[in-house]
Amino acid sequence: MAAGSEGPPSSGSSHPSTELEGIGGSAGFAIGPAYVLDPGRLGVVHRRIKTGQVEAEIARFDAAVTAARRELREAIDRVKGRGSPASGAEVSILEAYALMVEDPMLLSGVHDEIQKNHLCAEWALEIVSGGISDQLLAHEDPYLAERSHDVAFVRDRILGALTGQERRLIATDHEPVILVAHDLSPAETATLTRDNVLAIVTEVGTRTSHTSILARALEIPAVVGVRSALQHIASGDMLVVDGVHGRVVVSPDEARLDELQPRAERYYEIARGLRELKDEPAQTACGVPVDVQANIELAVEAEIALSHGARGVGLYRTEFLYIERSTPPTEDEQYEAYKKVVEIMAPLPVTLRTFDIGGDKFVTSIRMPHEMNPALGLRAVRLGLERPELLKTQLRAMVRASAHGRVRIMVPMVASLNEVRAVKALLSESVREVEARGHAHDDHIPLGCMIEVPSAAIMADEFAREVDFLSIGTNDLVQYSLAVDRSSRELARLASYFDPSVVRLIKGVIQAANFRKRSVSVCGAMASDPLAALLLVGMGLRSLSMEASAIPEVKAALGRVTLAEVEDAAGTAFECTTAHELEQSIAERFAPLIGDLLDPN
Ligand code: PEP
Ligand code: MG
Repeated sequence: MAAGSEGPPSSGSSHPSTELEGIGGSAGFAIGPAYVLDPGRLGVVHRRIKTGQVEAEIARFDAAVTAARRELREAIDRVKGRGSPASGAEVSILEAYALMVEDPMLLSGVHDEIQKNHLCAEWALEIVSGGISDQLLAHEDPYLAERSHDVAFVRDRILGALTGQERRLIATDHEPVILVAHDLSPAETATLTRDNVLAIVTEVGTRTSHTSILARALEIPAVVGVRSALQHIASGDMLVVDGVHGRVVVSPDEARLDELQPRAERYYEIARGLRELKDEPAQTACGVPVDVQANIELAVEAEIALSHGARGVGLYRTEFLYIERSTPPTEDEQYEAYKKVVEIMAPLPVTLRTFDIGGDKFVTSIRMPHEMNPALGLRAVRLGLERPELLKTQLRAMVRASAHGRVRIMVPMVASLNEVRAVKALLSESVREVEARGHAHDDHIPLGCMIEVPSAAIMADEFAREVDFLSIGTNDLVQYSLAVDRSSRELARLASYFDPSVVRLIKGVIQAANFRKRSVSVCGAMASDPLAALLLVGMGLRSLSMEASAIPEVKAALGRVTLAEVEDAAGTAFECTTAHELEQSIAERFAPLIGDLLDPN
């Protein structure tokens, strides 16, 4: 793990107690000392050398390159050794860095600067890497612009080796700290463990960024998007990290600590108690069963899903296999990842969603066009149909994984029936290709589509005729129905799944699926909110998929109400005309019963 200031946190700072707001990237609480990874550029000396020093200076630079390469190789070995399912992606990005350290343009450029202009190695490296970075940044293509961060990362490794100020990795036996950084690179996450990192705080990131995903997979609390974290936090400051509400308290005074400590304890006590419900069936107090499954982004989360009581994976966001790497995952790599999840979950079902790339989900392994409105652009199934070889590689991997358990395949972001029909044709071709290569597979893999665009919700009965199941993605359904960017923090108050327009669209989809005798579920964030989950069950839904950590609460909420109560509440809710009214009406009805589950603090 890299750190600007070597060693453990020093003394506490003189900051007065401050509260910082961010986004809860991974649930949980932690109290402990901060360990700040300084994002600042390492100091670069500007020194002219004499003609007689040129050779020695080039040798010094080459030695630093060798050291940087060795450091990356060691990080690669460490990640491989850790063997977590996140490792594949990390290894691939680290290998890309290792290659970049030896990039001929970089190396010969620096040699030239030393030789011709008599610059010291640090200065030469700064100039050459800056030039490469500027060229990349000038590209409109976000993929290439993103690569400039890689150049900066590689520059800092070589610079660190040259100056001896290298950013150090947190030793695995380091005393536990709360890691604070502008951002964490995959190399820096390589040595994260629950033993040496109590929590993570970053200035950038969202719930779906790499750091949040990894933190959730490792069950480390995280608050991301804390805009000015590094201005307010110094190494050694005592921090309280609340990954549930996305808050960080810096240097709390004793009274504040006395107030926060019991809250953290209470959170874990409730979480532990709820987890004990793991093997209890998910059903209403009157015995109506509800199928509760988990959403996952990484294969490692399948175990976590089971430990929280999931009865299957209702949404595997496979696009995370495509991030943080330079080329898309091969069919075999994908097959291994899907097979792993399918085997862990067997005999429970696993719904593999074809990649949802584009929109707010950019990946480094696929070049995307520059678009004015990526959310309305070449996203998900549109990209898959534009690049059928990419989609077919994925479909073949999914078909092969079906030989190991119960696989369902689901297509995101469909807006028209043509798209579903085109995917069905590609799936049939993929099945034939898998057979031709002699691989086993399930003969009847159910194919479903997500309902997350209003056009699909309105035409749900036709979609239901075309596929085996429907799954409502409320995150996008809200975004596209209310025309509110889902990633905007400023507009978040407008993006409510309690909006009557959204609730009516969902009701229509449930009715259409029932009419066509197709299963239907909700896999957006709405399903993980206990109040909203009760509304959905009252509206006729019997299948919910959510992040694993929410399963115990939703199960507990279901167990405290009868079907008649939730149906009655849903009926009343339908008379409401605004999101606020509707949410209030459900809350008034059920908050007295499930208040402790809504916000343990
Ligand atoms: C959704 O849109 O609700 C959904 C589940 O998909 P994602 O959040 O991955 O876009
Ligand atoms: Mg979606």
